[in-house]
Amino acid sequence: MTAPAGIYIHVPFCAVKCPYCDFYSQRYDRQTVQAYTEAVCRNLRALPAGLHADTLYFGGGTPSLLSGAQLMQITQAVREAVQLDADAEVTLEANPLTVTAAALNAWKAAGINRLSLGIQSVQPEVLRILGRRHTPEQAKSAVLRAQDAGFANLSADLMFGLAVQDAECLAADIDALTEMDIPHISAYMLKIEQNTPFAAQPPARCDDDAQADRYLQMHGLLTAAGYEHYEISNFARAGFGSRHNCKYWRLHPYYGIGPAAHSCHDGKRFAVPRDLAGFIADAVQQEDVTEPEAESVTERVMLGLRLKEGIRTDMLPDADRARILRRAKPLMPQYLTLTDGTLAMTPAGWLVSNAVLTALL
Ligand code: SF4
Repeated sequence: MTAPAGIYIHVPFCAVKCPYCDFYSQRYDRQTVQAYTEAVCRNLRALPAGLHADTLYFGGGTPSLLSGAQLMQITQAVREAVQLDADAEVTLEANPLTVTAAALNAWKAAGINRLSLGIQSVQPEVLRILGRRHTPEQAKSAVLRAQDAGFANLSADLMFGLAVQDAECLAADIDALTEMDIPHISAYMLKIEQNTPFAAQPPARCDDDAQADRYLQMHGLLTAAGYEHYEISNFARAGFGSRHNCKYWRLHPYYGIGPAAHSCHDGKRFAVPRDLAGFIADAVQQEDVTEPEAESVTERVMLGLRLKEGIRTDMLPDADRARILRRAKPLMPQYLTLTDGTLAMTPAGWLVSNAVLTALL
């Protein structure tokens, strides 16, 4: 039986561009956002008839820059276009500065039940270097306001890898997030992306050894605080893993709408061009096939080993299974484990995941 699909809406607007970010987004402007909203609804109506979905995810960009009315327009269009489960996970990525009492009410009315907050750190110096406009206090108020409004399913982004983020600094960030009772944390190592301001003027970063130490420190602190390290970059308390994001790693189908959105279904991967004007002008968004064999053994192993649950080796063709298990043996138990036919990476394996995957594949 096919797993229910996820619907992803890429919202390509930001108030200000952060110097490290290469996600596709443009400066917010009211008129373009409304034209974009109409285009999203048009594309939702073009989805295959009878599609069953159990997650909806607004990513970006800064989706919380959409007005309550625009979000409502899109979520209604989703419900008209697909069979969205009544208890579907509906996530909105939100900048802490946009989390007002009025916005929270509008988000609830539109059916949003999970917020992913771009907090990154609660250290003023880290926020300054990352070019974030919110203060630690504003991040904390955003969390409190969201919880007061009834949003228990919260996620926070945490960035690490700057030279100023020593063990003490990272521990303080993790303490703050766990004390705020945020049940899901996505932790990303700062990467310098091409064509970003950081590519021209990179900030001081920790060396490879220090990055590895921070990663394992984070694993230790968060697992001790009751979080499961369920994916290479994600931690959750019981019941709070991201249902939508797990579709990416389990190769379950998802349909992306908006410029730069990605999709995976019918054994292929697709990408919409990074072109907002084209997306608004086209009756139906263009999509390029980026991977014609999305369910190949390589893809299944690469994505499945990102998850703590790993991959069931009996799902692999015999010849591939034998080869992969032979190559996995010397990497056990430090980097890989094999339990009842399930192959999984350890946190030490995740740290050097590219090398482990190269050895296996
Ligand atoms: S990090 Fe978020 S807010 Fe900053 S530019 Fe990227 S998408 Fe926009």
